[in-house]
Amino acid sequence: MSSLVEQFSTFGRELFLQGLNSSHSGNMSVREGDRIYITRRGSMLGRLSERDVIETGLEADDSHITLASTEIKIHRAIYLNTSALAIVHAHPPFAISLSLHRSQIIPVDSEGVYYFKSIPVLHAERTIGSEEVAARLPEALTNYKAVMVGGHGSFAVGQMLEEAFQWTSSLEASCKTLFLCTLLAVAGQGRNAANGASEAAEEGKW
Ligand SMILES: [Zn+2]
Repeated sequence: MSSLVEQFSTFGRELFLQGLNSSHSGNMSVREGDRIYITRRGSMLGRLSERDVIETGLEADDSHITLASTEIKIHRAIYLNTSALAIVHAHPPFAISLSLHRSQIIPVDSEGVYYFKSIPVLHAERTIGSEEVAARLPEALTNYKAVMVGGHGSFAVGQMLEEAFQWTSSLEASCKTLFLCTLLAVAGQGRNAANGASEAAEEGKW
């Protein structure tokens, strides 16, 4: 197994084991010059093998394009407009829950504050295989390591797959903590306090 396929396999499995993707969700890619290596359409990220890593052009289509992930247009747009060399897209449930009614997620835990400060949420009419997301997401990813597409999932970038995986894992850990803090506020202080806590978190007052 080549070292690149090994990396796809390792981090795809970690994404699944950490509950960041369901059986067939998510996708990952790596850029090498004008080539892109991306997970196969409909592949199981927890069980990737050599045949699940598809090589195609960064800009030009070739015969492999039909095998590539349905999100390839977003991956291409990110590579063409940022300095990213690796992308991880996942469906982390706590982050998705928080993304539904927010324009940004402000972590309250120390690791999240240190790494992210803020995680922007991009809301679009269509969120899967979306031209709108492909047009708007790269700009957000020039300023942030990870961005949520509201109600759909995360896109994180790095110079290597491990880095993009790390931001995805850390993002979900921060969102889980924020989610639990909001629940504690509901249990301890009633619904009004929870709304206040949620608004404070949104405004970065936590
Ligand atoms: Zn997705």
